Amino acid sequence: MTTQRLFFALELPAPLQQQLVQWRADNFAAEAGTPVAAANLHLTLAFLGEVNRETQESLQQLAARITQPAFTLDLDDAGHWPRPGVVWLGCRRAPRGLLQLASLLRAQAARHGCAQSAQPFHPHVTLLRHATQRIVLPPRGFHWQMEATRFALCSSLFSRGRTRYKTVARWPLTSA
Ligand code: ATP
Ligand code: MG
Repeated sequence: MTTQRLFFALELPAPLQQQLVQWRADNFAAEAGTPVAAANLHLTLAFLGEVNRETQESLQQLAARITQPAFTLDLDDAGHWPRPGVVWLGCRRAPRGLLQLASLLRAQAARHGCAQSAQPFHPHVTLLRHATQRIVLPPRGFHWQMEATRFALCSSLFSRGRTRYKTVARWPLTSA
């Protein structure tokens, strides 16, 4: 049976992706790590892994029934996880809507056999991979705001040395 590698995510608007890429170029040395391509900057809500068509359809049906309000995300925090070698952007205080949405999607995924990490959910946008151990994070004088008005199911395909994401489906969050 054919499977796809899938994850639920918040997509970042293209102008924000460009701003983050510019800020990254201004603040990190070229040897700091491997930059994630602008179009790949996203925030994962729930990782599904390799999923067959039937499971995908069930999870899509459940996603379509989610009625959660839109929320504002403040990207005002950054960090470095040395072990996976990741430099990330995140929020000092994650909005409740974000945590609720991720928690629901992760629970639905788990019930459909998509193993979820035992680690608590830490919403983040990965900026650099293979980050060197002695990275210096820029001072916290940054703050981007993003309205999360929808969420998406994305596929991830590694081919010819690159990972490409494709949006499979999108659902709106309800406006206040
Ligand atoms: P690569 O092809 O180098 O792995 P990638 O990590 O961007 O690139 P995926 O591994 O397909 O691509 O991951 C897609 C998204 O899901 C990324 O945001 C990634 O951080 C996240 N992710 C991957 N594996 C897990 C996991 N086990 N638990 C939680 N999130 C995960
Ligand atoms: Mg990966």
